[in-house]
Amino acid sequence: GGAAPQLKVRKLEAWYGESHALHGVDLDVYPGETVTLLGRNGVGKTTTLRAIMGIIRKRKGEVEFEQKSIMRVPLHRIAHAGLGFVPEERGIFASLTVEENLTLPPVVAKGGMSIEKIYEIFPNLFERRGSPGTKLSGGEQQMLAIARILRTGVRLILLDEPTEGLAPVIVERIGEVLKVLKTHGVSVLLVEQNFRFASRIADHFYVMDHGQVIDSFTVSELPARTEALNTALGV
Ligand code: ATP
Repeated sequence: GGAAPQLKVRKLEAWYGESHALHGVDLDVYPGETVTLLGRNGVGKTTTLRAIMGIIRKRKGEVEFEQKSIMRVPLHRIAHAGLGFVPEERGIFASLTVEENLTLPPVVAKGGMSIEKIYEIFPNLFERRGSPGTKLSGGEQQMLAIARILRTGVRLILLDEPTEGLAPVIVERIGEVLKVLKTHGVSVLLVEQNFRFASRIADHFYVMDHGQVIDSFTVSELPARTEALNTALGV
């Protein structure tokens, strides 16, 4: 029983032109959960996030956020409905400073985090507030991309490979940030290749192959799944 899923995805299909990339994805994210999508390269993890957001227009199936269908909600309205997306390329404005990136738009959205609160969670961004986007490390850019979206008042963030290309010590800090978000009641659905990282932060896992979810389990079931996972992930 208990709570309803915050994000409910059913039979989600997506196409790139004629190429059928998702063949019916089912998944749930419950309020406050950190959920990880695992799977080999090219199985459709990024496509799943993009299809949930509606960045991929050619899609079919059902996506409900907080019990309302978002299949017809335009992309520019989705963040203000409480669902955010941080793409792999992060989208930092290179010519703007950290603080300008954070305060554009200048008005914090309803339910959004103030700049003071953000600097409390991300002290490194406070230190770097005057630095231009071009001068930031990959880790700082990732932090900034996450921080910026908190101003829009999101309650669930979709994160595409946040640790990609980052040094282990920075990966560690991203993990800490995700745990802090959790204490603020922000849920996360992330795509992650770094399984060790994922296993330390996630509550629930979905394994994808060939555009579908082939397995799903909680963190407590992880030890029993190690062998099957190694096969599925090809490690
Ligand atoms: P990766 O970690 O390599 O990004 P992934 O699991 O996220 O893997 P997707 O990027 O979702 O996989 O790709 C799923 C399939 O869709 C792949 O076969 C890929 O080649 C194809 N694909 C991805 N983006 C496009 C695109 N813009 N146009 C056409 N095909 C694409």
